[in-house]
Amino acid sequence: MSAFDNLAKIFTHEQKLGCTDSAILGGLEEFLPNWAQQNLRNPDAPQHDYLNQIAEALRGYSKADVTTRRAMLERALARANEAANRARATSERAKPVEPRADRPANKRATPSGETPRPEPSAAMKLVAPAPEDLPEIEELEGEEEREAEPPRTRDVGLGLGADITRLQGVGDARAKSLAKLGVSKVEDLLYLFPRRYDDYRKLKSISELMYGEDVSLIAKVSTVTTRTVRGNFNITNVLLADQTGSINATFFRQPFLAKQLRPGMMIVVRGRVERDLNRLCFKHPEWERPRKNAAGIIPVYPLTEGLSSQWLRNLIRPVVEYWADKIPDSLARELRKRAGLMDLNVALHEIHFPTSNENLEHARRRLAFEEFLIIQIGVLRQRRQWRMEPGKALGVDPLFVEKFLRSLPYELTGAQQRALREIFGDIQQTAPMSRLLQGDVGSGKTVVAAAAMLIAVANGAQAALLAPTEILSEQHYKTIRKIVDGLGAALGKRPRVELLTGSMRPREKVELHAAIASGEVDLAVGTHALIQETVNFKELALAVIDEQHRFGVAQRSAIRQKGYNPHILVMSATPIPRTLALTVYGDLDLSILDEMPPGRQEIRTKWLDPRERERAYAFIRKQVTEGRQAFVICPLIEESEAIDARAAVEEYERLRGEVYPDLQVGLIHGKLRPAEKDEVMNAFRDKQIDVLVATSVVEVGIDVPNATVMLIEGADRFGLAQLHQFRGRVGRGEHQSYCMLLADKSGSTSDDRLTVIEKTQDGFRLAEEDLKLRGPGEFFGTRQSGLP
Ligand code: ADP
Ligand code: MG
Repeated sequence: MSAFDNLAKIFTHEQKLGCTDSAILGGLEEFLPNWAQQNLRNPDAPQHDYLNQIAEALRGYSKADVTTRRAMLERALARANEAANRARATSERAKPVEPRADRPANKRATPSGETPRPEPSAAMKLVAPAPEDLPEIEELEGEEEREAEPPRTRDVGLGLGADITRLQGVGDARAKSLAKLGVSKVEDLLYLFPRRYDDYRKLKSISELMYGEDVSLIAKVSTVTTRTVRGNFNITNVLLADQTGSINATFFRQPFLAKQLRPGMMIVVRGRVERDLNRLCFKHPEWERPRKNAAGIIPVYPLTEGLSSQWLRNLIRPVVEYWADKIPDSLARELRKRAGLMDLNVALHEIHFPTSNENLEHARRRLAFEEFLIIQIGVLRQRRQWRMEPGKALGVDPLFVEKFLRSLPYELTGAQQRALREIFGDIQQTAPMSRLLQGDVGSGKTVVAAAAMLIAVANGAQAALLAPTEILSEQHYKTIRKIVDGLGAALGKRPRVELLTGSMRPREKVELHAAIASGEVDLAVGTHALIQETVNFKELALAVIDEQHRFGVAQRSAIRQKGYNPHILVMSATPIPRTLALTVYGDLDLSILDEMPPGRQEIRTKWLDPRERERAYAFIRKQVTEGRQAFVICPLIEESEAIDARAAVEEYERLRGEVYPDLQVGLIHGKLRPAEKDEVMNAFRDKQIDVLVATSVVEVGIDVPNATVMLIEGADRFGLAQLHQFRGRVGRGEHQSYCMLLADKSGSTSDDRLTVIEKTQDGFRLAEEDLKLRGPGEFFGTRQSGLP
């Protein structure tokens, strides 16, 4: 099989695609020089001639019409076939075409006299090394820098759009795991960015370890013992040592480890330092063979069930090496220059396999810039489309507004009044409103939204309020009911407010659907089921979406797809700096509630060192004894709900078993079914639970005025704005409330930048600080998907 055979295949493929110049990303013409460089390292004279003839035949291909292209391709294909035939004929005497002779893995010299082994799929496979057959690196102490393992044959022809299972080592099971990380095509791997990096120059030594810390360290395996308990339950103990001490790592149900880990081997261990009989230890930590690159900065990829970070790294490396240089830059050179941005090609290399911290920073900046630019363009386009179709102009009767305001048990804050004026200004127009009402937790968004909804009702139309969870829609329903009840008969008739949830009985649902369709229901509150199911409104004039730090783009378009064109008000409690809000919510006008209703208490906030965990526990106990309740938020371990949930279960078991055996400890995480979540939250609200353990992904956005303590584990992993969100879960009642932030790493508590949260209760300030600290990419997590 010669390289020209592969080329011929690509040409044939292109013919099959109707000469659309789509067989190869970037086009055939562009591709040819790359191919030659890759496959014809030391071309002999005839090969050179063929190559020139092929290049000549394809000159102008990208701009030619289909008929011309067909002829061009015909000629190119004939030349490629000739070259391939010649290669076959001479293959006994010499190896005329040897793809990348400098790469040992490719040295599949055909034994002379035999017919070459057919490799039908080779041309279409981008081969990644399987984890088993990776070359091992002997010792990290080894003087010389070993290069990364030689990349395997990566014959061209596999497009970026190719299914991930086409890669060697990716079967159905792994493809499924990869899908959870949003990876289904080869291209997705390029954009699966590391969640963090291990810096091999900054690893800890064993004597420095501290209980509760999350660490990476490098150590030598001293002994490996496996024993079986209770019949078939396997426990493998691995004693690790470095120059400063030793520590035990325990693995459950992994008997094969005894084969993989041999005494004398160096491994990198990553995990939380735990305690067993007062000795520090690791319990099933992540581990891998050390790998060095020039900078010592090793990417650590997001984990999901069934995939190790190391395996991912090995899968991604050849893809990056092969493809990163070939992706056309989406930003014009001019723009890159003006904004001081790195080339996409370099950035993709650097984000995965950084050569220095500085380059990594540049790469991040470049990729974040692009991401935001794309979001913004999409969002602006949507806004334009949105406003082209007219909605219903609503009349705002000043008399009614006055009655409404008088019916409230408090005066609106200045910020609330301003937001209301802005909203009223919008809904009186036919161009549908798209406005974001942004305000910290407790800033009083609901009453503003209620006012707008009642205006819709006063105009004889309907309004809907969508909440992200059932329990929140219930809470909103109650609040709206209260406001409507307070209003009495000010509208002439009493508006009918209904709650529609997924857990309602089918009969009730059918009845409600009918009442909504006939217009009897004026104000419907519910989850997204309200727009996704078979619900039809008679005349939906206003939709309020409470989106709890989600972008809500999907909901907004879902409403439109139902054929309505209502005014839309999005409520968000995530304080986003104004500059960023314009980017992400570019399709929305912005109203900000930057003033809290009077009498809000300050939540006393303190950073704690991991060593102070016991003190934190004692404090919680004291509060519980006084009749209060507490939240314990587990750290964000992975971008995987399953893994986070498992960690939360462990934390829950530990707290219940060891720390608070005498208290009622509850657990809530993202893997619970909605009904189960609601059950737990209800129990917490009803004081049947003293200490509630929760993952960070879970929505705990409900009011529990009796909860006064918020303990956040691994707090240094969260953004300040996010911490502030959690903190807002307490301090909702009459009692003094507290927020304790437990750092993973000791030392981080003295970080000035982090201590801002101790001193300020202002979400917007914290958001600005986050932006400065972590940049916009971090602000929203990595690459958003599903955006227009
Ligand atoms: P958000 O949804 O913005 O977190 P809410 O709308 O739930 O906040 O309001 C929080 C609490 O503050 C509610 O109990 C509400 O009745 C009360 N509230 C709202 N506005 C005011 C105000 N202007 N003065 C006093 N209390 C207010
Ligand atoms: Mg609210």
